[in-house]
Formats: sequence, C-alpha cells, structure tokens
Amino acid sequence: MNQLHCDIVQDLLVAYFDGEVSPGTRLAIEKHLTGCATCRQLLKDMEVSPMVFQGLAPTPPPGDRERRVLAAARRRLYVMALGIFLIAAGVLGFTGWGLYQLFITPDVPWLVRLGIAAPVGGVLLIVMALIAERRQDRKEEEDDLGKY
Ligand SMILES: [Zn+2]
Repeated sequence: MNQLHCDIVQDLLVAYFDGEVSPGTRLAIEKHLTGCATCRQLLKDMEVSPMVFQGLAPTPPPGDRERRVLAAARRRLYVMALGIFLIAAGVLGFTGWGLYQLFITPDVPWLVRLGIAAPVGGVLLIVMALIAERRQDRKEEEDDLGKY
C-alpha cells in the first residue's frame, strides 16, 4: 500500500463511486481496496453520505416538482374556467337579453313573467353556489400549496 497508489485511488474514488470508471480501472481500484483499510474507509464514508462526495448538481427537493405539477394543473384549470366563463357569458347574455325584452313587454301575462323569472333565478342561484364552491376549493388549494 504505497502512498502514491493510495493518492491515485483516492482521486479516482469519487468517479468509482459514481460508476464512471473503465472496467480496468474498476478492477484495479477494487484490488487496492481489498488490501487498504484507509481507502476502504473512505469509500464507506461516501456510501454513508453520498451527497457530500458526489459533487453533482443537487437534485431539486421533491416538493419542487410537486409544486410545478400543481402550478401547471392550476394554469390549465384557469384557462378552462376562462373559456367556460366566456361561453356562459355569451349564452346567458343573449338569452338573458331576449328574456328581458319579453319580460318588459307590457301585455305579457304574469304567469309567463313568472315562467321567465323562476328559471333565471334558479340559474343565478346555481351560478352563485358554483362560484362560492370554486372560491372555497381555490382557498384550500392555496393552503395545500403553502405546505410545500
Ligand atoms: Zn489505499
């Protein structure tokens, strides 16, 4: 176990640990390791705390990926919500305007007016309930995001 040999092995140990040495070098290092307790201990230390020795770009913490996935999902949801909102606004706008014109026509019987007002009120109620629910979901989603 001459000193020079140990120096070379220790220089190569990180590459060996990462599996980046040629088969010949690997064999030579393994042969040296069987006879050298110092280098064996160094390799053991690497196995215990690989992050210190690998010298690689640190892998992003797991929360990072999750956050990106969540953000992408949320963007998709916003785009869909905007599309649905535009369609609903158009349909409700046109229909609402037509119904309103019928509603304000002087000689329409009150039963017809009630027939218009009731479904419009029902739609408004449902829309308001959906908006409230969506707000609640979004708030919970943001609370979840805060955990990462
Ligand atoms: Zn050695």
